[in-house]
Amino acid sequence: MKVFNTLSRQKEEFVPLQEGKVSMYVCGPTVYNLIHIGNARPMIVFDTARRYMEHKGYEVNYVSNFTDVDDKIIKKANEEGVEPSVISERYIEECRKDMKALNVKEATTHPKATEEIEGMIEMIQTLIDKGYAYAAQDGTVYYRTRSFKDYGKLSHKNLDDLRSGGRSLLVSGEDQKQDALDFVLWKPKKEGEPYWESPWCEGRPGWHIECSVMSRKYLGEEIDIHAGGEDLIFPHHENEIAQSEAANGKEFAKYWLHNGFLNIDNKKMSKSAGNFFTVRDISEKYDLQVLRFFMLSAHYRSPLNFSADLMEAAKNGLDRIVTSVANLNYLLDNASDNGMTEEEQKQYNEAKGFITKFDEAMDDDFNTADAVSAIFELVKFTNTKASESSSKAFVQALKDEIVTLSDICGLIVDKKEEILDTEIEALIQERQDARKSKNFARADEIRDMLAAQGIILEDTREGVKWKRA
Ligand code: AMP
Ligand code: ZN
Repeated sequence: MKVFNTLSRQKEEFVPLQEGKVSMYVCGPTVYNLIHIGNARPMIVFDTARRYMEHKGYEVNYVSNFTDVDDKIIKKANEEGVEPSVISERYIEECRKDMKALNVKEATTHPKATEEIEGMIEMIQTLIDKGYAYAAQDGTVYYRTRSFKDYGKLSHKNLDDLRSGGRSLLVSGEDQKQDALDFVLWKPKKEGEPYWESPWCEGRPGWHIECSVMSRKYLGEEIDIHAGGEDLIFPHHENEIAQSEAANGKEFAKYWLHNGFLNIDNKKMSKSAGNFFTVRDISEKYDLQVLRFFMLSAHYRSPLNFSADLMEAAKNGLDRIVTSVANLNYLLDNASDNGMTEEEQKQYNEAKGFITKFDEAMDDDFNTADAVSAIFELVKFTNTKASESSSKAFVQALKDEIVTLSDICGLIVDKKEEILDTEIEALIQERQDARKSKNFARADEIRDMLAAQGIILEDTREGVKWKRA
């Protein structure tokens, strides 16, 4: 398997640090609003990369953070007159709902910045002790960028270029920096902001330190893959490398993967210009599987343009796969219980060629665009070969292949099962509504109905959870 590494700007053979295991960190969203479709791109593409590696037999330890302390969160909290944690918890919850609807697997660990402050203070102290950081008089702690000799290795910038543009790097209130290139690790509290005690001042962390700390805590000092959108290459990931490698004395991440940007109608997404969609907006018009399919129709590193036409095309494309599987289900219900004929065995071997094609595409830096084409070819082949005279074994084998490849892409194409899940969710919602309007008879009726189908409901503080008995 080859992956494009931003560090070397080349495709490299993927060799994990530990055989059979992959440690992967993906920078997650800042939770001050519903996530937009641009935020959904890294979630979907790196979830697909994870699924593919798991399919290949790797055990993937996948960590993705929530940035829950940030200027934008504090601003929104002040506007609403609530604590910042009310805002961040609300949007973490909403983000999780969107991720579920996009069929993004739950991370192995989803750490939150505010729960990791102690580790951040410890790493900052190490950086000070090693001479890579200093506390200014007002208690701000800065990273001494020039002291890290490899600074710029990820973004391929050199320090002198940065210095010539250095003035613009000075942010107001940061006038105690020793050098314009230095960046903040810890900053003093301001009125109305959340803060923590530290050896330097009551304050809060700069943004970059959280990922260095969470990555080390949950994955170790050296990891295989660090990923995120390409806007994070500089300064965020460059600064993470400077922090982690200076503190740990080891290479931070072996492979750096970055997704290209999502634009709308060929323009940068912008709220003020009116071309901006949240994932929730899209869910009003489409099943979010369509959005996922749309994202996978391009290579993750390419820029991707979002438009109504392309979404319609994605919907039609996904429908083709779903319809083919529905036809196979119909055939399965009616097929005789025979084994594969010799001719069918031959055709099935031919079908496996499309699976090889799929694997080759995914092995080539997760080329989902070509992988999806391979699924289409398999579907087309299946539509012409499977018929009412086919054996059950043949139909089942073709269906299994389509479902397996789709599943690697996180696409649910066997509606037999999915309808059940959505029905359950709908009934749970109806039960909630019934309870709200004090129609307890209906609420109980729904619970009993679900119980009869082996669905167990559990009322928790975070809402209703369900599981199959
Ligand atoms: P943020 O909440 O801004 O830190 O972003 C969370 C993740 O979404 C990061 O990996 C960003 O790089 C990514 N991201 C933000 N906007 C876009 C976009 N328009 N296209 C692709 N990725 C994006
Ligand atoms: Zn990060």
